[in-house]
Amino acid sequence: MNVDSIQNGFVIDHIRAGYGMRLYELLGLDDRDVSIAIIKNVQSKKLGKKDIIKIDADIPVDLDVIGYVDPDATINIIKDGKLVEKRVIGMPEKLVNVIKCKNPRCITSTEQELDHIFKLTDKNNKVYRCAYCETKASK
Ligand code: ZN
Repeated sequence: MNVDSIQNGFVIDHIRAGYGMRLYELLGLDDRDVSIAIIKNVQSKKLGKKDIIKIDADIPVDLDVIGYVDPDATINIIKDGKLVEKRVIGMPEKLVNVIKCKNPRCITSTEQELDHIFKLTDKNNKVYRCAYCETKASK
């Protein structure tokens, strides 16, 4: 894969250094049979160092997951070799089935069919809490 010549896909850019792999995991990219490149510790004027993920395939990508891991990350959408859209993700208000509640007494640990829902309760400190038991999410 030539990482510079994506035809149809995405470049997730400006990921804080060290968060690329976590994002890769949470996006479920490991299970995808497509060309993906993770570039770590790229020099960046803005961030010092950053991670970049390039996905050379037009697959659905959950923007909420990206916003959760790093709200300052940007996504570049590439179609037919051209950049068609570039945007900053921002912090999602709600996360559905992105992370799981760690509280063993939470209803989501016994009721398997329930969605795992977390809500942004403190924007300044990026705190998400379980919608059922209010346990704080840990990254
Ligand atoms: Zn919970």
